[in-house]
Amino acid sequence: MNARQIPGGVWEGGHVNDEVRKAGVGRGWHPLLDELHGRLMEACPDYVAHQVKEKFGTLRAYIRGNAAAYALEREYEAKSASICESCGALGRLRSSTSWRHTYCDPCEEGYLARRCRPETG
Ligand SMILES: [Zn+2]
Repeated sequence: MNARQIPGGVWEGGHVNDEVRKAGVGRGWHPLLDELHGRLMEACPDYVAHQVKEKFGTLRAYIRGNAAAYALEREYEAKSASICESCGALGRLRSSTSWRHTYCDPCEEGYLARRCRPETG
């Protein structure tokens, strides 16, 4: 189980570095989540992550915490727009297809090669 007991005795959520939280985004962003977790533990040790996912190409970490924690949430959302979600290399936000995503050049090429097959018939 990844739920944690938070002050007040309520079992809810967990931290962004829990494996279940990381499962919501590609491996390239996992180091970013570890870093975010470290800074959240300094800013707000009791923080709770409700959800971690990719939305419109950038990282969304929905957490409950103090003002400093919410500032970190926004800071890492912005940071994720320059880190490849697939491999962690330097990347950029792309809208090559209807799915907006942040990839580096090689990952983008691989993605498009897999996706854009020649039309037949
Ligand atoms: Zn990549």
